[in-house]
Amino acid sequence: MAENCKQIAVLGSTGSIGTSALEVIAASGGRLQAIALSAHSQFDRLLKQAQEFQPRWVVVTDPQAAEAFDWSALPVDTELLTGSEALCEVAIRDEVDLVLAAIVGRAGLESTWAAIENKKPVALANKETMVMAGPLVTKLAEERDTVLLPVDSEHSAIFQALQSGKSNEVARLVLTASGGPFRDYSTEQLKNVTIAEALDHPVWEMGPKITIDSATMMNKALEIVEARWMFGINAERIEVAIHPQSVVHSMVEYVDGSVVAQLSPPDMRLPIQVAFDYPHRFMGIASRMDWQHGFSLDFWPPSESQLPALELGHQCASAGGTSGAVLNAANEAAVGAFLAGELHFTEIVPACRSILEMHSFDANPTLSQLIKLDRWAREEVTRWVCA
Ligand code: NDP
Ligand code: MG
Repeated sequence: MAENCKQIAVLGSTGSIGTSALEVIAASGGRLQAIALSAHSQFDRLLKQAQEFQPRWVVVTDPQAAEAFDWSALPVDTELLTGSEALCEVAIRDEVDLVLAAIVGRAGLESTWAAIENKKPVALANKETMVMAGPLVTKLAEERDTVLLPVDSEHSAIFQALQSGKSNEVARLVLTASGGPFRDYSTEQLKNVTIAEALDHPVWEMGPKITIDSATMMNKALEIVEARWMFGINAERIEVAIHPQSVVHSMVEYVDGSVVAQLSPPDMRLPIQVAFDYPHRFMGIASRMDWQHGFSLDFWPPSESQLPALELGHQCASAGGTSGAVLNAANEAAVGAFLAGELHFTEIVPACRSILEMHSFDANPTLSQLIKLDRWAREEVTRWVCA
């Protein structure tokens, strides 16, 4: 094992971000190492990853499914741990230098929390944790004197652009959005969107949940809330620009009118590497800009049909309290129902809005209150589906 290498616990290693993260680690020449990996259902993939990366621990979150699988080909020095609590156990081990939170949805909350509580730097892909409990998460990170390094490409861009000025010199954050596969659809056309069409993103290859979120624009709504808490910027100073090429990943506008942007081809390996290596930079494997061929970049404001989702993001970012947890849970459950064929595409955002309006708001909730509300909002979506 190389000395001074960074030992990374890759939680959610079998997913889209997890796989890209392992590519970054593999190409780092030993500078970065995967000390822990985790899977929920893709055991074959986890086994192959373990054979390649020889981690100290692999975690399988579903103990029963893990028992039925043949783990005999696991490397001899790799320990198999099962159950979702094991994610927290590995996240806090002394040998872990950094935790990549790349589990999708609310399932990523406890391990991210445990890592921060134990002063681990966290590379945060799991935006849902920030949406659900942003004020508590950032407060905990401050108390424990540890850093949250954004992996979401927009937030990584803002994080990098913020290094050009002081926080009191920031006028606005501009989050770019590809607009998803339906950016030119009329409201009428949106009514007939199929699951396969919604899963076919024009620019990014991602896991199913975030792909649907991109199609509904709820991904951008969640990112508004994520930016609100990650950067401590008021909701009214966070804007969204549609940028179909996804080359400008987001921008910071300073009080003097300067706009600082971060550009790179759409490739998540770059923001992952930026988070892993912060505060340094190294050569990496992410795709590069090609300046030898002409290209143009377009920007336009969100369309009428994109506004309702974005409004929910702004509403939750300015209200804070319990609203993010309710929005996140309602959205996760609604996306699940859409993917199960139980809800129309155009019902996802209205379901979220209705459940958000229904809930009894609390400005200063505890984490356990948020977890209870998460369950409540999911049940409400089930009720909405059955109604
Ligand atoms: P994927 O669906 O591709 O991967 C999700 C990972 O989480 C997999 O390892 C999966 O395991 C694991 N997982 C799923 N459910 C559970 C559970 N209940 N308990 C524990 N582990 C679970 O998602 P992505 O990689 O696309 O996204 C991961 C996170 O990163 C999300 O929060 C997303 O919003 C964020 N993100 C993703 C981007 C992308 O380009 N993909 C961009 C920006 C942010 P298994 O596969 O074995 O079932
Ligand atoms: Mg993003």
